Amino acid sequence: MRRSLLLMMVFALLALPVAVYRQWLDVPPRWNPWAPLDITETPNLLTSFKLWRLQDDPALCRQALDTSPLRYLPLPDSSADADCPLENVLRVQASELKFNSSFVATCPLAAAFALFERHHLQPAAQAVFGQPVTLVEHVGSFACRNVAGSQRRSQHASANALDIVGFRLRDGQRISVLRDWTTDGDEARFLRQVHEGACASFNSTLGPDYNAAHRDHFHVDMGLYRMCR
Ligand SMILES: [Zn+2]
Repeated sequence: MRRSLLLMMVFALLALPVAVYRQWLDVPPRWNPWAPLDITETPNLLTSFKLWRLQDDPALCRQALDTSPLRYLPLPDSSADADCPLENVLRVQASELKFNSSFVATCPLAAAFALFERHHLQPAAQAVFGQPVTLVEHVGSFACRNVAGSQRRSQHASANALDIVGFRLRDGQRISVLRDWTTDGDEARFLRQVHEGACASFNSTLGPDYNAAHRDHFHVDMGLYRMCR
C-alpha cells in the first residue's frame, strides 16, 4: 500500500512539468517555467530558469525585453572567426533611466538589468532617498580580454558583463561606488541594497569587498558561475 502511494507521488512529480508544458494544466504564466519572462512580474523561484532559457533563443529574449521599458537596437551576430565573437547581442540605449553611454549587451544581460532596475535598484532608491535613480554610470560591457591574471576569457569578451561605477538621483545627487561604499551614510546603505539586488538579478556580482580591482565598481554578468561577493 505504502509503496503504491510512493509510486503515485513519484509519478505525479514527474508528470507535473509535462502537464504544464503541454498546457493540460492551466498554470498562471509566472508559475509556468515555459511561459516567456515578464519583466514586470515580481521575481520568483522560476526567474533564473526563465533568464537562462533566453541565452539561446533571441526571439524569446526580445519578447521578454518588450515587457520592459528598455530601449535597444538588435545587433547582428559577428562572424565566427572574430577573436571575441558576439551572439544574441543588442545595443542598450536607455530605459526609464538613462545611461552615461549606450552599451553592447547580450540579450539575457539586458533582461537581467531590466529586472534589476525595476525590482531592486529603483525600490532601493525610493526606500533610502525617496526618489528614483535617473542615470546609471558604467565603464563598459564589451572588451575582448581574459579575466585579469588568468587564461580564462572574461564575460566582457562576449558582452555578457557590465561594470557599474555610480548612480545619479533625480535631484542631481551622485552616488559613487568608489567614494561611498566604505562610508556609513545613506549612500553606503543604498549601495549595499543595490549590491544585494544585483546578486538576486544577475548570475555573478562582484563589488569592492571582492578585491582591489573592484574597489570602484560593481561587476555584474550572466556567465555560468554564480557568485555574490
Ligand atoms: Zn567587469
